[in-house]
Amino acid sequence: MENKAEAIGIKWKNCPLCKNKKTSLKYKNMGDKGYFINGKFDLIECQNCKFEFLSYLLNEKQLAKYYPSEDYYSFYNYNPLALKYHKLSAYYHSKKTFLFNFVFFPLSPILYKYYIKQDANVLEIGCGNGMKLEIYRKYGMKTAGIEPYGPGLAEKEKVLGIERISVKDAKYKENSFDFIVLKEVLEHVPNQKLLLERCFKWMKPGGRFIITVPNTDSFLCRLFKQDWFGYDVPRHLYNYNPENLSFFLKKFGFKIIRIKLYEMPYMLDGSLKFHIARKTGKKEHEFIFSNFAKIAATPIALMLTYLKRGSLMEIECTK
Ligand SMILES: [Zn+2]
Repeated sequence: MENKAEAIGIKWKNCPLCKNKKTSLKYKNMGDKGYFINGKFDLIECQNCKFEFLSYLLNEKQLAKYYPSEDYYSFYNYNPLALKYHKLSAYYHSKKTFLFNFVFFPLSPILYKYYIKQDANVLEIGCGNGMKLEIYRKYGMKTAGIEPYGPGLAEKEKVLGIERISVKDAKYKENSFDFIVLKEVLEHVPNQKLLLERCFKWMKPGGRFIITVPNTDSFLCRLFKQDWFGYDVPRHLYNYNPENLSFFLKKFGFKIIRIKLYEMPYMLDGSLKFHIARKTGKKEHEFIFSNFAKIAATPIALMLTYLKRGSLMEIECTK
């Protein structure tokens, strides 16, 4: 088979997170269910810390073809529903209107955490098209962004401080940022060590580092198994749970402030989409990936969030 993973990567001998030798095969021959790009991948689970990872490590160049720039959702123009969700989340966290916050309080566990602080410096790594940075900027914050994949930068993206580089080539000074955010990015990055070392260095003492990743210790992961949207093979190289990610972050010197588990409607309809994609071999399922389905799935997402069984976790740390 073309691009058999064995031919293009380095095989892990130990768990990349805790270095334990006892690992087991969790799912075999997983393919790309998002864009149907060739390649078969095995998912391995560490028997010690339950970290799950692709058996072969792909480098950034090998991974680039799995991010089709005409297609990949992060490069799209803003999805109107996603934009509304982020605007609402930011407004809620800006605490501008008491009544607004009172009304939206029941929804707050599934809102994205924005730190709104006038003139503060925020860096987003893996910022896609800069939707969140634009929101931060509207609240008077100074923005910077790293997005290694995608087409040439638009003028609007340059204004937001976005650079089309990898973390390795970024030249920020030590203690530059009040906030560093990685939303569903850590699981995509081959060199976790370099990324976390740089984030630690670039963040100001007392600053905040906020990471959002899929959570393998969740209801939807158990329900959908290999079709869980959180696996998104092979773009997601690593899959965490709250315990092993906390352990990993502490190794780099971060202090954990809080961990939030939550569910999002797109994890539910994404998992359904992946399940159907595997059964039928087709990727067109307009209803399932529609905004209507996402709104319909919101009560389920809220329920799983309140039960603390969500597919996503947000970890906030400082140094
Ligand atoms: Zn381990």
